[in-house]
Amino acid sequence: MAQAEIGLIGLGVMGSNLALNIAEKGNTIAVFNRTVEVTRKFYAEAGALQSQIVPCETIEEFVAAIRPPRPIIIMIKAGEPVDQQMELLKPYLEKNDIMIDAGNANFRDTMRRFDNLKDSGLTFIGMGVSGGEEGARHGPSIMVGGKEDSWKRVEKVLTSIAAKYNDDPCVAWLGENGAGHFVKTIHNGIEYADMQMIAEIYGILRDGLKMSATEIGEVFGEWNKGRLNSYLIEITEKVLKAADPITGKPIVDLILDKAGQKGTGKWSVIEAQNMGIPATAIEAAVAARSISSVKGEREAAEKVLGLPAVGEFNVADKTAFLKDLESALLAAKIGAYAQGFAVMAEASREFNWNLPMPTIAKIWRAGCIIRSAFLDEITTAFTKDPNVANLIVTPAFSGMVKETDGALRRVVSAAVLGGLPVPALASALGYFDSYRRGRGTANVIQAQRDFFGAHGFDRIDGADSHHGPWGSGLIA
Ligand code: NDP
Repeated sequence: MAQAEIGLIGLGVMGSNLALNIAEKGNTIAVFNRTVEVTRKFYAEAGALQSQIVPCETIEEFVAAIRPPRPIIIMIKAGEPVDQQMELLKPYLEKNDIMIDAGNANFRDTMRRFDNLKDSGLTFIGMGVSGGEEGARHGPSIMVGGKEDSWKRVEKVLTSIAAKYNDDPCVAWLGENGAGHFVKTIHNGIEYADMQMIAEIYGILRDGLKMSATEIGEVFGEWNKGRLNSYLIEITEKVLKAADPITGKPIVDLILDKAGQKGTGKWSVIEAQNMGIPATAIEAAVAARSISSVKGEREAAEKVLGLPAVGEFNVADKTAFLKDLESALLAAKIGAYAQGFAVMAEASREFNWNLPMPTIAKIWRAGCIIRSAFLDEITTAFTKDPNVANLIVTPAFSGMVKETDGALRRVVSAAVLGGLPVPALASALGYFDSYRRGRGTANVIQAQRDFFGAHGFDRIDGADSHHGPWGSGLIA
């Protein structure tokens, strides 16, 4: 067999599916896994794709099987294991070979790895892959960061395996060093917000309107035919309608309400805070997962405090309220995406990446977890105005916000009065209300800061006096 076009290390959930996808698209791929039995099992089960796969049991054999300059995808547990794997690989590599970390790396680790390889003659790509197991197998969304010539070496293979949206491949080179992993991190941050907002709407339907899981599934199914059409809404319908094989009850009612997290949501928030960009919906979503995880504390608190002392959750017109919920979810979602894109715009300036906003929206339209019809509209908005300060002031999205924010306000109000937690929906509303208000309330904060710390302030009349008369008399 001719030398493989590409190599892949790590035949776990993502790696094995990515390798099969690469093989299926007619590329020859060499594979290696730390535990040899995994490689053997993978190869044995590859069926007709075996002819495209070179299973390797040693690193030496693996490297020799790939055509130089060798692109090697490392799809293993993120963090320290990637550094260990790179160290094991390095002695066998030659000038211009490319190590590609395709896991969920922190982009700061990616930048460090770039720096460490600077004088080695080797190159590196930090590549975000979204779409889970199914995406990896049949078409993920791929966010590439690294040198443009490294990208050129892998462009053909990656284009062949990426998801397609109307024939447009959902893969792109987004910029140097950490750009790909940064964009993947923000993708996941937005995903956290999107999921949390859906869960909050589910909570209103379950605990406010007392609907069953199956009935709520029907509602999401209807919404998926409209403007909320998206993978997450689609799977929410499926999740809510799935029956537990043991009891026959809706499985969702039997799942413990403790959400896991691996770090990308938290990293989004940390980076947003580092740059001073508000990402309140993402923050609320990350915090909500943290609150969910202290199940024991919540149960104890419910015993001490009880649920909020509110009356029946009263909705005069259920049909109108359901319409409001649909619009509220759309409005809140706009807030979360606007925040995510604003974080990326600032990072692009800070790290000199020149991130292409329309392209990012484009490659998220299919393959990834947040794929949706809505991303096509974001693509159009950023294509018309790539440097706009915020998505919500583009003509298309300002129109949508004006049309839907009333519903968001009514839904958040109803939930708050009904004692139902909606932190992500409320944060999106707070974001709109703060962002659209030309005269805010920070004048009081500036005055307070000057009062206790002589920090000074700017005056709206431009007068050359930057400290308050705090020691003198009060207005009579
Ligand atoms: P799995 O747990 O299924 O597989 C882990 C893989 O990592 C195995 O091949 C394992 O090898 C290997 N591994 C672990 N530690 C080491 C080490 N020290 N040295 C070498 N190999 C090691 O993980 P996933 O496939 O789910 O995830 C892989 C990466 O993809 C992660 O970064 C993850 O965050 C990311 N990702 C996952 C998604 C998902 O939906 N699962 C979606 C997008 C990205 P061995 O068989 O020897 O244990």
